[in-house]
This record gives sequence, C-alpha cells and structure tokens, in this order.
Amino acid sequence: MYRKKLIAGNWKMNKTAADAASLVQEIVAGVGKHGEAEVVVCPPFTALESAGKALDGSLVKLGAQNMHPEGSGAFTGEISAPMLRSLFVTHVILGHSERRSLCGETDAFINRKVLAALKHQLRPILCVGETLAEREAGTTLKIVQGQLEKNLEGVAKEQAAQVVIAYEPVWAIGTGKNATAEQAQEVHAFIRGLLTKLFGEPAAQRIRILYGGSMKPANAPELLAQKDIDGGLIGGASLEARSFLDLVKAAGAA
Ligand code: PEP
Repeated sequence: MYRKKLIAGNWKMNKTAADAASLVQEIVAGVGKHGEAEVVVCPPFTALESAGKALDGSLVKLGAQNMHPEGSGAFTGEISAPMLRSLFVTHVILGHSERRSLCGETDAFINRKVLAALKHQLRPILCVGETLAEREAGTTLKIVQGQLEKNLEGVAKEQAAQVVIAYEPVWAIGTGKNATAEQAQEVHAFIRGLLTKLFGEPAAQRIRILYGGSMKPANAPELLAQKDIDGGLIGGASLEARSFLDLVKAAGAA
C-alpha cells in the first residue's frame, strides 16, 4: 500500500507572526512544485494568519498545535476548530506529550478534541508515546495501546483515514536522542496492527504513522526507510528552513 510521506513541523512556542512569514516563504521556495512528500507547518496560533498568507497557493499546508473541543463559549484563552478553519488550517496536533504532561490533558479530553477536529474537517495529528520509565519497565506497547484506544474512541471507520498518528517517545523529544529505526519500526508496526483491529485493514493501511523525537537530516533516511514509518513530526529541526527542507527531501526520496 502506497502512503505518501508526510513531514510536519511543530514550531511549539517559537516565531512571531513576522518571523513565521519569513520562514514559510523560505520553505515554500524550497518545496516549489515538488509534491513527493506532503508538508505541513504548525506555527503558534498568533502566527497562523501570516503563515497562511505566506503559503497561499503553494503545496505547503497549515496546521495548528492544539484546539479546544467545543466550538465556542466561555473558555478563556482557548481556540476552537471553526476558528482554525477560518484561517485555512487543515491539520491540528493533538495530545502532544508536552500538553499531556505540562497542561494535564487527559486521554478523555484528547478524545473529545479528536472527534471535534474530525467533525470540522480538520485532520488530527494525534501524538502518543511512552516515557523513559515506561520503556525501561517494558510497558511501551501497553502505554501506546491505551492512549490510542482511549484517544480514538468513537472515531468512525469511514473517518479513520483522516487521522494521522505520531509516535513520539517522550524520552526522544527535544533530547537529541532519537529512537533507533528498529525501536521505532517495532512500535509503528504494533500501531498498524492495532489500527487494523480498530478500523479494519483498508483504513489501517491508509493511516499515516509519523515518527517524532529528535528526527534530523542525519537520522531521517534510516527512520523513513522503515515499512511503517510514513513521515516525521519535527520539533527543533523545523525551526530552520534548511534542516526542515532536508527532511522534506529525505521523505520524498524514501
Ligand atoms: C516534537 O515536539 O513533536 C518533537 C518531535 O520535537 P523534537 O524534534 O525537537 O524532538
């Protein structure tokens, strides 16, 4: 089954609106008409509009880093799916480990966001992954299974292929220590098997499973060559056009 590779940049709390526009211009110029890999940039909320203008008419797509499950209401400081849609956002990162650990997001809350994103035609990039303690305790697959089953509850089979999964071992995020290709492939294959049980073979074969955690141009080719690794969710290396474009190139060549 052919799955187009996807490279998504998670800029986290970096870049002003003006900085975002310049970075996107460089990315757009570098991507050009090369559509071998799908490319998504996820700036902070305050830079979505300027980034969106800078990528208008290009192959680069716009993602957000979070959203609230409700459409509107008394939720100070929050942003809803319709608000994102009004800025031409197509993807939204949900359940990132920083939001799980620093903002106390629960699996049930993340599940509500996944369902709300799909309802509003946004593609969730759902992040799952184990901590170092969980890996050392041998519970990686159990943790990932629990997160996926809870976060994807109620997703219809027909909608499942809209979801993108990002396997992000927490110990690899921002640490410079990536999972080996073998470690990552083991978890990705397990995720594909679980998705097959949840949604059936055709949908599971279409769902992209990204790897995230210190992916860089140097380690990307080996990771991206794995059967069930369909792209990358990139933090640090997405903040600079050159490294991000090298990753896009590696995905296109994989
Ligand atoms: C991330 O935060 O999603 C991530 C993968 O970060 P980094 O690439 O910096 O490890």
